[in-house]
Amino acid sequence: MSKSSSHDVIVSGGGTPGLALALLLANVGLRVAVIDPAPLSRFRLGAPEGRTSALMQSSIAALKMTGAWEMALPYGASLEVLRIVDDSFGRKKQQIETDFPAADIGLSFFGINMPNNILRTALAIRAQENKAISLCDSLRLAQFSPDDTGVSVTLSDGSILQGALLVAADGRASPVREQSGIVCWEHEYEQTAITCLINHSSPHQNVSTEFHRPGGPFTLVPLPGNTSSVVWVEKKNDADGYMKLNRQSFEQALQDRTNGRLGRIILSSDPQSCPLIALRAKNYISQRVALVAEAAHVLSPLGAQGLNLSLRDIDCLAKTIIKAAQTGLDVGAQSVLSLYEKDRRADILIRSLGTDGLTRLVSHNHRPLHSLRRTGLKAISMIEPLKIMAMQQGMSA
Ligand SMILES: Cc1cc2nc3c(=O)[nH]c(=O)nc-3n(C[C@H](O)[C@H](O)[C@H](O)COP(=O)(O)OP(=O)(O)OC[C@H]3O[C@@H](n4cnc5c(N)ncnc54)[C@H](O)[C@@H]3O)c2cc1C
Repeated sequence: MSKSSSHDVIVSGGGTPGLALALLLANVGLRVAVIDPAPLSRFRLGAPEGRTSALMQSSIAALKMTGAWEMALPYGASLEVLRIVDDSFGRKKQQIETDFPAADIGLSFFGINMPNNILRTALAIRAQENKAISLCDSLRLAQFSPDDTGVSVTLSDGSILQGALLVAADGRASPVREQSGIVCWEHEYEQTAITCLINHSSPHQNVSTEFHRPGGPFTLVPLPGNTSSVVWVEKKNDADGYMKLNRQSFEQALQDRTNGRLGRIILSSDPQSCPLIALRAKNYISQRVALVAEAAHVLSPLGAQGLNLSLRDIDCLAKTIIKAAQTGLDVGAQSVLSLYEKDRRADILIRSLGTDGLTRLVSHNHRPLHSLRRTGLKAISMIEPLKIMAMQQGMSA
């Protein structure tokens, strides 16, 4: 550890990944500062808001180690069956449907669907309670300068933090990545994801249903009781049109897309929209800097991989830092950061290329791709070993 540090690690960005990392490090006694424009020290649990994430088993294991998981758990619902419906023609008769039950691969559930704001709040509350964490909230990182002995970070109010390592958990437009001069591959899909929460009159039975339609997938993901979250991908112009609908017409559009599977639908949050992009940084480290989560990679929401991949970054970086600190090494040294980058490269590349391919496959209505999609789904639904293999592949996160 650098002797000049007032913190061992400075985390820029107090989203879910940034706060989870801070807790994993602080729980073993490392001194951590978290910088975020949001008032994290005043966060209190409230009602679930618009967006949720389907968290897989490895993410849940990492979140349990933070101490925040049990607080968030009552707000999540288990995903026991994944149902894929090819609805290319918008007609019920021509739909091809197949179920992937978790029980078929010996699991009681694939993962837990959790409202993003609840998980972030639970982590922020644990961070408020942790004496090894300094919450520099309602502030931004303005600039930083690394050298051989440490990194000096200037905040938007002019105050300065010293650390051995700066972690960029500051999202897809990461100011730290920009200032580090790390270049990225980027792609815009010309599609938009509309997200919202709904109440419905029929139970979801813990089935997550993904309808594949010409404009993009429309997914219903269970939450506790008769509530679900919606991720509705459409071509950009069409999505802009849907976002302008009044509440009643929007609810009718949801009703039409669900084919009555969930009974009567009522919106329980305002719809939000987000353009679909993919991004992958060329490097995940620079002098005294490590990139994590969307600062390093952005995936389309298809396959629900984004936050899961981010939490694997966090788990890996935390283990690397803790091991270095316990053996008396400088946690921001290039040799330590290189271990993190080397460990993460293959997983990030495979998930990023896989999700990009999947997004193009299910989002295009070109005839050959469309036939491949329908044939593939038919084959998977009829050939049991193929289906099991597809599920095991999806769970290999
Ligand atoms: C529609 C949709 C559905 C999704 N569904 C899933 C899913 O089911 N499962 C899944 O695993 N993933 C899902 N994802 C992906 C997941 O939401 C993201 O991967 C995750 O939220 C990214 O977290 P992050 O901390 O990198 O970024 P953010 O959540 O954007 O956090 C970055 C933080 O950095 C802060 N910041 C920015 N600038 C500064 C600065 N200068 N100084 C300090 N702080 C700064 C911001 O205020 C923010 O709090 C989905 C994404 C979308 C768009």
